[in-house]
Amino acid sequence: MSADAPSLSPNAYRDTWSGQVLGDRVGDRVRLSGWVHRRRDHGGLIFIDLRDRTGIVQLVFNPDESGGSHELGHRLRSEYVISVTGKVVNREPETVNPDLPTGEFEVHVSEAGVLAESDTPPFGIEDYQGEAGEETRLKHRYLDLRREPMREAIELRHRLTTAMRSFLDGEGFLEIETPILTRSTPEGARDFLVPSRLQRGSFYALPQSPQLFKQLLMVSGFERYFQIARCFRDEDLRADRQPDFTQLDIEMSFVDGEDVIALNERLIGHLLAGMGIEIDTPFPRMAYDEAVGRFGSDKPDTRYGYEITDLTECLRGTEFKAFGGVIESGGAVRGINFGQRDLSRAQLDGLIDDAKELGAKGLVWAFREGDGWRAPIAKFLSADELAALNAAMEAEEGDLMLVAADAPAKVASILGGLRTRLAERWDLIPEGVNSLTWIVDWPLFEWVEEEERWNALHHPFTAPAGDLDPENPGDTRAQAYDLVWNGVELGGGSIRINRPEVQSAVFQVLGISAEESAERFGFLLEALHYGAPPHGGIAYGVDRFAALLAGVDSIRDVIAFPKTASGGDPLTGAPAPVDEIQLREAGINLRKPPKPGTS
Ligand code: ASP
Repeated sequence: MSADAPSLSPNAYRDTWSGQVLGDRVGDRVRLSGWVHRRRDHGGLIFIDLRDRTGIVQLVFNPDESGGSHELGHRLRSEYVISVTGKVVNREPETVNPDLPTGEFEVHVSEAGVLAESDTPPFGIEDYQGEAGEETRLKHRYLDLRREPMREAIELRHRLTTAMRSFLDGEGFLEIETPILTRSTPEGARDFLVPSRLQRGSFYALPQSPQLFKQLLMVSGFERYFQIARCFRDEDLRADRQPDFTQLDIEMSFVDGEDVIALNERLIGHLLAGMGIEIDTPFPRMAYDEAVGRFGSDKPDTRYGYEITDLTECLRGTEFKAFGGVIESGGAVRGINFGQRDLSRAQLDGLIDDAKELGAKGLVWAFREGDGWRAPIAKFLSADELAALNAAMEAEEGDLMLVAADAPAKVASILGGLRTRLAERWDLIPEGVNSLTWIVDWPLFEWVEEEERWNALHHPFTAPAGDLDPENPGDTRAQAYDLVWNGVELGGGSIRINRPEVQSAVFQVLGISAEESAERFGFLLEALHYGAPPHGGIAYGVDRFAALLAGVDSIRDVIAFPKTASGGDPLTGAPAPVDEIQLREAGINLRKPPKPGTS
């Protein structure tokens, strides 16, 4: 710890960090300040573990050495803030604490003062065992952050963002801030709105990303921009999503996709190396269609196999209606061979519930037995069909196969979801493997069946690869790339449209009329008329990146002051009603809240 300790200018409170009380200081008089981490009062001797940001050191209050301070030692309680002066000595061999870097030493206190008292904390800082619920932890976040794992996660995040800044600075990127009070930036989520007091009835939108501003900065000629940017998306609640979150946002001019990918492989290599993770470059690339076909996901976890096999051709013309009907209506039958699994009937039926949760109408389970199947539905399939299925899934005797039938995109997401669920449940993910993959060759548009319209798969500013065919938008590919790490989307970006007529054509496919695009994005379209260089970039989710590096499950554990899963902040009570005067100033008349159960 001491090697990492920041420099310290001696002052009235201290001249040494707790974590620096090591062998080279034995015999020195030191002045320390911090929190009472733990206190053991043996009547005569009082032991205090003193904690500051750099670590913990043991203080000893001895009636013979500490004079008047010994009395004070009796009064100390957990989390009191104190300042002490004392002499560094070697601990008696039997009292050495091998778990502490300072564990061979202690400070014999000669003077001590209380700087602030503390109420009894609502949960243990020193010996926290997960007993407090998240609500309590967040309500007292300032105490939660005193705990070592939290402090370490926040420190790791700082090291990560510092490494981002220094790498990009070294590559000639400028950090430029873009507005928080702005207009809508379409990234596919709802906007957070802020009413304007000065222009009643008008609203700012908080940025879903700095996308449009970073493109304008390229038009301005800055050529290389980055920002560690706060973004805001009012999305429906999902575990581990925050309404405000942080991106590392990057944009470059006079580049194609290869240039952006190369820069980012250097960046990621540098960031991971700083965290002690060596990674080979270039990273493998996988086309979007392949990712969805083999893994059922555009963020495939390629650390393990159990890939999806298409079985449609094995079953074309089958008498078995559950498969045959789906195939006739243009659907697909696909399956995964999960190898040897010893599961009870109840567990197998449980897999069907898993599949249903993932949107399936049903799921077929089967074990290879001889040339056929041991499965409830085996009798509905012919011997040839069973043999073909076994061959396609390369099943060996006793292997468990899970098969689903549905529209192709649906069956992909069902089996993709099942694959990741079961990989976790059955421990199929190898430890210590890091797999980084670029997903490329994305479609530019996706068809939204319910609304009968095209949607931009990334955002509407992504450049098509080649010409855009307005008659067949679904065939157009995008110059887009996402970086996936162990099945998690770390970042994504694209080459942007830099010619106004192409941008207008994309808006047209998306059903955004000329008037609407002029109204919403007129400033961008106009800027594209003044010499926009070819440009492109990427954005990474910093919270997710830090969480992966810290090895924590939740991004909330790498955010100092996060919201709960329902978007609230138990610490400040946000979001909160505002008073009548504020509403009046903002020109807002609240409607009655909807009745429960309606919206
Ligand atoms: N603005 C995009 C996003 O937030 C990233 C990019 O295209 O650079 O996903």
